[in-house]
Amino acid sequence: IPKKNIRNFSIIAHVDHGKSTLADGLLEFTETVHTREMASQFLDGMDLERERGITIKLQAARMRYTPEGGEPHALNLIDTPGHVDFSYEVSRSLAACEAALLIVDASQGVEAQTLANCYLALENDLEIIPVLNKIDLPGADPDRVLAEIEDLVGIDATEAIMCSAKQRIGIKEVLDAIVARCPPPPAEVEPANPLRALIFDSYYDAYRGVVVMFRIVDGSIKKGDKIRFMNSGVEYDIDEVGVISPKQVPVNDRALEPGEVGYLCASIKEVAHARVGDTITSVANEASDALPGYQEATPMVYAGLFPTDQGQYNDLREALEKLQLNDAALSFEVENSPAMGFGFRCGFLGLLHSEIVQERLEREYNLDLITTAPTVVYEVLNAKGETVVVDNPADMPPPDRRREVREPYVRVDLFTPEDYVGTLMELNQDRRGEFITMEYLGTGAGGGRTKLSYEVPLAEVVCDYFDAVKSRSKGYASMEYTMTGYRKNNLVRLDVKINGEEADPLSCIVHKDKAYGVGRDLVDRLKELIPRQQFPVPIQATIGAKSVASARIPAIRKDVLAKCYGGDISRKKKLLKKQAEGKKRMKAIGRVDVPQEAFMAILNKK
Ligand code: GDP
Ligand code: MG
Repeated sequence: IPKKNIRNFSIIAHVDHGKSTLADGLLEFTETVHTREMASQFLDGMDLERERGITIKLQAARMRYTPEGGEPHALNLIDTPGHVDFSYEVSRSLAACEAALLIVDASQGVEAQTLANCYLALENDLEIIPVLNKIDLPGADPDRVLAEIEDLVGIDATEAIMCSAKQRIGIKEVLDAIVARCPPPPAEVEPANPLRALIFDSYYDAYRGVVVMFRIVDGSIKKGDKIRFMNSGVEYDIDEVGVISPKQVPVNDRALEPGEVGYLCASIKEVAHARVGDTITSVANEASDALPGYQEATPMVYAGLFPTDQGQYNDLREALEKLQLNDAALSFEVENSPAMGFGFRCGFLGLLHSEIVQERLEREYNLDLITTAPTVVYEVLNAKGETVVVDNPADMPPPDRRREVREPYVRVDLFTPEDYVGTLMELNQDRRGEFITMEYLGTGAGGGRTKLSYEVPLAEVVCDYFDAVKSRSKGYASMEYTMTGYRKNNLVRLDVKINGEEADPLSCIVHKDKAYGVGRDLVDRLKELIPRQQFPVPIQATIGAKSVASARIPAIRKDVLAKCYGGDISRKKKLLKKQAEGKKRMKAIGRVDVPQEAFMAILNKK
């Protein structure tokens, strides 16, 4: 297929607006995969992604489509992840395309994430093709939603395609629009130029090593070539090159050329060698400059991961190493906590990323873990006048050895029906947010939708902010955030003592004005969460030497073994076993067993 008949596009959509259904519709219409095959293969991504309502990634799919009276075209759909933690990956997928389908649910309207991804697409100079989906729904209000797209995205929506992905209405129109409106890859680039291919996805396969998905910008690539990843600097010989349709089909008889999308395997040991955004070049005909836009992964939140049983420490290390093969954004180093023993301090892109990693460690590697509450990265100006980075509250220098503490801020954009504006403003004030703007987006059936923007400390967002937004708006509001920078604040470290023992994993950094309230809530919640012991347990929250709140858990008197009268030994064993099971996911701090929930107590703000 000549370059002028290649189309590379991606799909931008808010969760549940119909991206997967439309993708299936396109694959089915072009007979790329058969319906039965599809259900099992392509809708079945990671369980975790499904459960969390993250759009499952298809990676890419090449379709063949011939418009009426036209020539055959190759349409490459390049998929993007659907969550704010992965916006860098989204931007690289978009950079591999010439156009994006903007899918908007005609009964809902534009949401925060959609808009953020649209801006990424516009930054990459993509043609945006609006598609109104779910027009079959009685609540569909295409006119209102079209006006919203024009207002918010600033594009002409008069040629938006009306579609029902589910009822397979408008699928052909979408394909025709891709052919007509998505530009072909630039014509001037030559296969003889030095190779530059953009990696938009990569994953680790136990048998073949890392599988790299790429789009060729300049030059060509074929089996046997020696390649270099320009940012990681490593070199490999290509074992296999092919196209993704969406099955991987090796191509042995020709080279892939500019504008083409493909995959390659080269016995690459870890994803970090071939990260998203890196440029592939050829060692024989090397490009002088890498493609723009590459970024190192910078963790935004950190948490401690400790095995409940110290015997699992090595297993945890091995599991983290394995996950890292496939996840270049995951970082970890050994952490030795006085209260918890040995574990790892892990860095994540965001809260969702941290939850995915923890769940995989537990499900796939069968580890019993205690996870400490996530914290952000602080900048501390120490007494010597140096700025140090602190990703663990336990490492915060004491007040006499620091001059100032700076914390990261994000700009949060919220899209909400008018009715919830009041409660969301309250939430932001409560989270130390600073109001920036409020925009009315016009009135519609569901009340006027409003865009609210605040600057909020990231520490307040990584708590339960997202859940709070959802519950306060009955699920109707959506949000998006971007880092804006560091600001100096009056921050203090709040420590917790359980039964007189320093519980360092419960330490947290809080604003001085909120310290008493947070300390009080934390102590009260710990009192509920920590089970009674054989002895009374005092709990105390302190700042430096000063106590800010305290409570006391009374002792239990009941001894489970007392009922056995030393008689029936099997019954006694059963009881002990039951007790041991009840102890699961607990970690002893001193003599007190502390359950997992207690380590997260700081997050569950009211
Ligand atoms: P994604 O999260 O954007 O991938 O959305 P999905 O494709 O998974 O669709 C979310 C839900 O909307 C599913 O229950 C679909 O069956 C439903 N859906 C998708 N397209 C349509 C449509 O055109 N009409 C109706 N009524 N429902 C749709
Ligand atoms: Mg989906």
